[in-house]
This record gives sequence, C-alpha cells and structure tokens, in this order.
Amino acid sequence: MMKKIISLAVATAVLTACSTVSMTGRKQLNLVSESEILSASLSEYQSYMKTAKVSTDANATAIVKNVAQRIAAAAEAYLTATGQTADLQNYAWEFNLTQDANLNAFCMPGGKIVVYSGMLGLIGNGADRDDELAAVIGHEVGHAIAKHGQERASQQLLQQMGGSVLGAVVGGASTQTQQAIATAYGMGTQYGALLPFSRKHELEADYIGIVLATIAGYDADAAVTLWQKMEAASGGSNPAPFMSTHPSSSKRISELQKSIPKVKAEYGAVYQQATAPAATTTTKNSTKTTTTNKGTGFKIG
Ligand SMILES: [Zn+2]
Repeated sequence: MMKKIISLAVATAVLTACSTVSMTGRKQLNLVSESEILSASLSEYQSYMKTAKVSTDANATAIVKNVAQRIAAAAEAYLTATGQTADLQNYAWEFNLTQDANLNAFCMPGGKIVVYSGMLGLIGNGADRDDELAAVIGHEVGHAIAKHGQERASQQLLQQMGGSVLGAVVGGASTQTQQAIATAYGMGTQYGALLPFSRKHELEADYIGIVLATIAGYDADAAVTLWQKMEAASGGSNPAPFMSTHPSSSKRISELQKSIPKVKAEYGAVYQQATAPAATTTTKNSTKTTTTNKGTGFKIG
C-alpha cells in the first residue's frame, strides 16, 4: 500500500515536473531547480577557470568574444521574442578563449562560454572563420538554453532516488540533488563540464546552434563545413574531446543539411527585421510570427 502511494506520488511528481524545449517543442524532465543548477555550474566553471590557461593572444581572443557576444545576443533575442523572459535573468554571460590544444568548447548553464585555442586553430583563418565559430558556440549555447544539463541532472536524480524522489522535489533534499547535479556534469572527472550529452541532446543542440547563428546574422551552412573539418581531424585512433563527446558526425551533417534551408527561411528574415535599429514598431509583430512558428521543421528519430 505504502509502495503504491509512493509510486503514484513519484509518477505525479514526474508528470508535473516536465517542461518544454521551446525551439523544438520537445518535452523534458525537470526535477532540479534552476538555482541549484546555476550555483553548481558556476562553481564548476570557476574551478575550471582557476586551472585553465587564459589565452594571451589578444587578436584571437577578440575574434572569439565578438562571435560569442553575437550568439549570446541572439539567444537573448530569441528568449525575449518567445516570452521566456524569466530565463533571461539566469544569464551572466562570460566569453573566454583558453590555451588548450584539444578541439573543444563549452557553455555552462548561466552563459559561461569557453572556446579552446585548438578549436580555433582547426577552424583556421578562412573567409568562413566567424561562421564556423558561430556554429561551435551556437551549438554549446544550444545545450544551455535547452537546459540539457538540468534535464540530465533530473534523470540522474530520478535514477538515484527511486521512490523517494518526491521528497527531493518537495522537501528540497539538497544533498541528493547536489549529488545528481555533480554526477550529471561529470564534476571531478577529466571532462569537467563536458560529460557526453545524449545523441538526442546533440542533434537538438545542433539545430538550436544553426538557429542562433542565423539570428545572429551568420551563415548556417558553416555548421556543415565545421563538422567536415572535425571529422577529418578526428580520423585517427585518438578522437578529439569535442568529437568523443559529440558523436556520429555523418548523421549530424545530414540532419543539418535538412534543417538549414528551413531555419534560414524561418528565422533569418524575421529576426534581422526585428533586430534592425529602425524596426521598433514592427518588432512585436515579427516576433509573434516566430512564436507561432516555433517547433516546426525539427524532427529527431
Ligand atoms: Zn554538444
């Protein structure tokens, strides 16, 4: 009897603890509070930055900061346009280039963005440099705004707590929640914040990445050339961290190629109008159009 009541309570808690990823319409589990995720990821970021070597290359740093800033602005424009203004307060953006030869980048919940110099080196200095960088950063910010870390911590919590998960949700069993967050983020492991995301999260972040790049005025086609470079660079027996945490490059390239024309049509003109300086009176109408269109054109098998 008691067991029945508990599992009913768990089911209820899980059902009521769902939220929706607005850009794709996908439902996700959400058992961990925003504030717990933010404080845990902030301390993870701070401890990373303590040991990381910040790049002394002023030129390269300026390139990364410029693109990251524009992607962050695009994310804020999107959240504002779709009425997710409560989420805006969670972001205190920071942009860094760190000296690390690995092909990697991340964005913590709360907007702490780090690009490794190895990634910038792979992209090179061609005409599409900023577009490819926008694809990398857009992807990482995509994980953040879709709250993939929170979802993963919630799944971890559910697994860890079993029948007493309701207590964690209602009573705020903080130790358990903290442990779930720590496990979900792989804290203390060699990957830091970079524990592999699921394939579903990866494809969703790819999609959000090209949306953000498009809103920011970059060419989303660069996501394809970026992944081709990544694939070529990781051909050996020792794949790059970004690769090993971001699997199946041929699948993601074909998904990107399907989504890019739709994303350009859906988000390009609307937001460029909305963000134009003289377009204040049309901003609301334009963004309403976007709201009704959200969630279209994205399917993961
Ligand atoms: Zn990813």
